[in-house]
Formats: sequence, C-alpha cells, structure tokens
Amino acid sequence: MLVLGIESSCDETGVALYDSEQGLLAHRIHSQIAMHTEYGGVVPELASRDHIRRVLPLTEACLAEAQRTRKDIDAIAYTAGPGLAGALLVGASVANALAFALEKPIVAVHHLEGHLLSPLLSTPRPDFPFVALLVSGGHTQLMAVRGIGQYEILGETVDDAAGEAFDKSAKLLDLGYPGGPALSKLADTGDATRFKLPRPMLHSGDLDFSFSGLKTAVLNLVNQQAPIDDQTRADICAAFQEAVVEVLLKKCVAALQQTGMQRLVIAGGVGANKQLRNALNEAARRRKFEVFYPPLELCTDNGAMIAFAGAMRLQYATPQYSYGARPRWDLSTLEAC
Ligand code: ATP
Ligand code: MG
Ligand code: FE
Repeated sequence: MLVLGIESSCDETGVALYDSEQGLLAHRIHSQIAMHTEYGGVVPELASRDHIRRVLPLTEACLAEAQRTRKDIDAIAYTAGPGLAGALLVGASVANALAFALEKPIVAVHHLEGHLLSPLLSTPRPDFPFVALLVSGGHTQLMAVRGIGQYEILGETVDDAAGEAFDKSAKLLDLGYPGGPALSKLADTGDATRFKLPRPMLHSGDLDFSFSGLKTAVLNLVNQQAPIDDQTRADICAAFQEAVVEVLLKKCVAALQQTGMQRLVIAGGVGANKQLRNALNEAARRRKFEVFYPPLELCTDNGAMIAFAGAMRLQYATPQYSYGARPRWDLSTLEAC
C-alpha cells in the first residue's frame, strides 16, 4: 500500500511516500525558517500561505523521485493536529481534495503520534513495548508505549519543552532562531566545567521535567558575564547542553526502571542532539537496555512520519473523510489499535 503523507502543522512543509512493503520511497521537506527569521519566530499567517505554495510541488517531486504517479497512491495521511490552525487547514484541504479526486481513503494523523512512531522507520526497528522520550520544540514527555495508540504518559514538562529551552537560550546568546542546532554546535568547542547550571527537577522523585528555570539561569549568566566573548559563549552553551542532557538521561533511566521495560525510543527534534545520543548510547551499554532513534533527518518535522503513522492506522481503522484541524489534541485520547 502506497501512502502519501502531508505535514503542515508549523513551519515545515513535509511530504513523503511510504510503501508498506518497500518502506520509505521519497520524502521532501521545505523549511520556512529563513522566512520567519526576521521576526524571531513563526508568523502563523505567513506559515499558512507558504504551505499553500509548497505542498503540491513537493508532492510532485516525491512522485517523480519514487517514479510513481498520482494514480499509484493508495491512501493519503495528513497531520490534523496539534499545531497552528491555519497551517493545519492547508494540509487538511489539500489531502482531502486529493483523496476525493483520486477516490482514495484518507486518514487524519496526530502530529505527536507521527514523531512517536518515527523511530520505527529506522533499522533495526524497535518492538513494542517501549519507553518513549518525546523531546521536540513543543513537548517533553516520557511515555510507556504498548502498541499503536496505547500511550501512557509517565511524566512531562511542567513548563518549557527541552527544544524550547534550547531555542530560548540560543536567542539569549544571539544565535538566531530556532537556535537549538547552533547552540549544540557551539557547545562542541566549549568547556562544560567552567559554569555550573542547575539540573531542574533531577531529584523530584517523579518523571516530570522543568526547563524554564534553566533558561533563566542562562539569562543571569549572560548578564553577569557581559560583554560576552566567543569562548564564554561556547562555554555557556556547553554548560547548558550538559544540564539538559543529564536531566533527560536520568529521567529516561528512571522510566525504564519504573516500567521494567528494556527498550528506549527517542523522538522529536532534540533527538538529533549528538551529546544526548552519546550519553544515551553509553548508558544503554552500561545498563544493558536498547535505545532507538529516528533517522537523523526525520527527528524534526517531516512528511515521512505522517505517512508511516497513517499506514499503521490504516491497517486497523476504517478511513473516513475527516476535513478539519485540531489545533489542540490530547495524544492520550487516541484510539488504541
Ligand atoms: P512539536 O512537535 O512539539 O509541536 P516541533 O515540531 O516544533 O514541536 P520538532 O520539529 O520535533 O519540534 O523539533 C524542533 C526542535 O528541536 C527545536 O526546538 C530545535 O531547536 C530542536 N533541535 C533540533 N536539532 C537539535 C539539536 N541538534 N540539538 C538540540 N536541539 C535541537
Ligand atoms: Mg519546525
Ligand atoms: Fe513536531
């Protein structure tokens, strides 16, 4: 079954073709980062308009790369939420129009289920059950995942998401927007021992997180050290990254202990972070658990994870026209398969 996936929840237009027998055949992403940079963040109306411009050309590019035509598409999956209402409506409109015109089934996908299942696009592929750490720009959650749609939240951030803390700290250090990857790159040349930043909620005894205080600690450090030279900036990046990685790592290990599970799955943009991966791999080796990641380029928003989650859902659910967007949509309300 060939599934076309369309992602347009925020500032990336993602399109992909996933074949349930042959795997991922093609995927294309257009990032709007350059367009939003001058405003220092995503402008929703500009995002919607740009999705309109990009989604069909990206679809054509995917079909060409996979050497397929529209007629070969067996089903269409699109991100129905959560996200920006206008941006979601673009994906919903195009997906429903295509499904109607091609007379093919359509399935509405939850963006976070897309992220959560994206590590299943890697080889080796993790079996259920597993503990999942979803670390994206908007979410930081630990979940016990027992199957498609069986998501038990074990803990989550009480304020900022880890990715958000990366981006906000990067902004404080004049590293642009979204500065997570730039902060991480600079941390490579920094000395993590020069400054000691707090490890929020490390000993809270639960699996919740908090990152807004860490961002404030970065702000205080920036003010205290002003004017900041290049080495100091790199040292602050290294200290910040080390604090985030330590908290994420320890809570993942605690979640594995609490559930008795042996597999850990990382999803979302911060899952691309090299130091986080190194720390998790090292812990997995020492503590004898397995850790799985999405392919590096599928950590942040993309159409492949939507096509894949759609293909999984289509095995079980009856597809139906579902025009609409759900800017707020609780993952735990999804139907189990
Ligand atoms: P959500 O899925 O929760 O709605 P989102 O779609 O914006 O949020 P993603 O696209 O999964 O989130 O991830 C984007 C986030 O990942 C940004 O905050 C970005 O800074 C962060 N990020 C990406 N690469 C890295 C990296 N190498 N190190 C740290 N953070 C990173
Ligand atoms: Mg994005
Ligand atoms: Fe996302």
